[in-house]
Amino acid sequence: MSAVTPSKDIFYTVGLLGYASPHSAPTAETCHPSCSLSKENCRELAALNLNLNISFSNTAKASQDFGHMYHDRPSAILYASSAQDIVAIVKLAYFSPNNLTIVLKGAGHSIYGQAQALHGIVIKMSTVVPFVEASGGELWIDVVKEALKKGMAPRSLTDYLYLSVGGTLSNAGVSGQAFRYGPQISNVLELEVVTGKGEIVICSEHQHADLFYSVLGGLGQFAIITKAKIRLHHVPPKVVQSLSLSLSLSLSLSLSLSRISYLILSYIIIDASYLGFLDRVHDKERDLRKSGLWYTPHPWLNLFIPRSRIIEFDAWVFKQKLSGGINGPMLVYFLNRNKWDSQMSEVTPSEDIFYAVSPRSAPTIGMLMDQNSKILYFCRTKSIEYKQYLPQYVNQDEWKTHFDHLCPRFRERKPRYDPKAILSPAQRIFWRSKTLS
Ligand SMILES: Cc1cc2nc3c(=O)[nH]c(=O)nc-3n(C[C@H](O)[C@H](O)[C@H](O)COP(=O)(O)OP(=O)(O)OC[C@H]3O[C@@H](n4cnc5c(N)ncnc54)[C@H](O)[C@@H]3O)c2cc1C
Repeated sequence: MSAVTPSKDIFYTVGLLGYASPHSAPTAETCHPSCSLSKENCRELAALNLNLNISFSNTAKASQDFGHMYHDRPSAILYASSAQDIVAIVKLAYFSPNNLTIVLKGAGHSIYGQAQALHGIVIKMSTVVPFVEASGGELWIDVVKEALKKGMAPRSLTDYLYLSVGGTLSNAGVSGQAFRYGPQISNVLELEVVTGKGEIVICSEHQHADLFYSVLGGLGQFAIITKAKIRLHHVPPKVVQSLSLSLSLSLSLSLSLSRISYLILSYIIIDASYLGFLDRVHDKERDLRKSGLWYTPHPWLNLFIPRSRIIEFDAWVFKQKLSGGINGPMLVYFLNRNKWDSQMSEVTPSEDIFYAVSPRSAPTIGMLMDQNSKILYFCRTKSIEYKQYLPQYVNQDEWKTHFDHLCPRFRERKPRYDPKAILSPAQRIFWRSKTLS
C-alpha cells in the first residue's frame, strides 16, 4: 500500500531536481570576494566535491529576522537538501581551525538574532519534497489514487496507469509530463532493492548511488525494486483537457493533414477530474478488451528521435510510410534531455531535445512488423542517432550499439550487482553463468 508522506515530514532532494542553483561549491580561487570564510575553509569546501547549493553573495538576507535588531552577516548560506549536505558542512566546521560556526535558519521568526551566525554558515533547509512510498509491484493507478487523497500526484506518469512501479522504473516512464518534469525515473527519491546477490539495499543519489542509477532504466538487470519513494506535487482537483490541431503544430512537424486519419478537426474541451484525466487510457483498454484486440500480438515500436532529424523522419515515416493512415493513435512527445540523468541506465539521443515517437498501429500485425523494420532500416541507413525505448534486440552487437559509449558502464555494473546474471534473462543482454566475466 502506498503511504503518502505529507509535507511536514522531512525528506529532501536536490540532485533529482537538477542543480538549479547558480551557486556551486567554490574553489579557493573562485571564492566570492565578499566571502569571509578563510581560504582554508574555501579550499576544504571545494575538496568536499559535493554539488552543494551554497551562496557567498547576498548573505545579508540571512542576517534578518523578525526582531529586526540584530544583523550578524554570515559568510555563506547553504541551501541544504539532504542530511548529507549538512554532514559535509558540519564536518568542515568541526575540523575548521578558524572557529567556523553553523546555524540552521527555519522560518526566521527569532527576535534577538538567534538564527544568525557572524562569519559562519547559515543553513536553510530546502522546501520539503512530498513523496509517496510504493512497493515495486504496485500499479501506478493505485499510487495515484493514494496520492490524490492528499491533493497530490506523481509529477511524471505514463499515459496508461495499470503498469507497475518497478516495471516502468526499469525503463523510463514517459508521457506528456516528461518534457517538464523528466521521465518517472527522474522523479525517484529513494529505492529499496534486492540485488542479484540477494542483498537488500536502500539506495538514492546519496547512498549507494551507483546502484540507484543502475537500477533506474536498468531493464531489470541489476536488482529487483521492492520499494520506491516517488516525488509528488500538488494538483488541482479538475483539469481542462483540450484536443485540437495544435498537437501537430506544437510539435513543429509539417504533417500532411489529409493523410492523417486520426487528427481531430474540431477543438474539443473536456472538463475532467484530475484522476479522470490521468486515467484517460483506461476506457480505451476496456474497449480493446471487449473487442479482443487487447489479446492480439502487439509488436510496438517506440523510438527516441533527435530533434535535428525529426523533419526527415516526418517526411519519410509520417508522410510516406504511414500515408495510408495509421488505424489508431500515435504518440509523439518532445522531451528535454536535461531532465534525464545520464548516470542512469536508460539511454537517449545526445541532443538537447528529442522526440518519443510510437507508431503503434497498422492495418494488420504483419504490416505493423514490416513497418517497424522499415522504419528502423530507414533510421539506420540515414544514420539517425535514434534510440529504441523499451528496446528489443536479439544479439549482443545490437545491445552494444544501443548503449554505445554507455555500454562499458552498463556492462561494468552487471557483475557488481548481479554477477551470475540471474535477473531478467529475457532482455537477452547477459546470459546466466556461474560467474560473469
Ligand atoms: C498498454 C500499455 C501502455 C503503455 N504506456 C506507456 C507509457 O505511456 N509510457 C511509458 O513509458 N511506457 C508505457 N508502456 C510500456 C511500459 O512502461 C513497460 O512495458 C513497462 O515495463 C511495463 O511495466 P510492467 O509492470 O507491466 O512490467 P513487466 O512487463 O512486468 O516487466 C518489464 C521489465 O521490467 C522489469 N521489472 C518489472 N518489475 C520490476 C521490479 N520490481 N524490479 C526490477 N525490475 C522489474 C522486468 O524484469 C522486465 O524486464 C506501456 C505498455 C503497455 C502495454
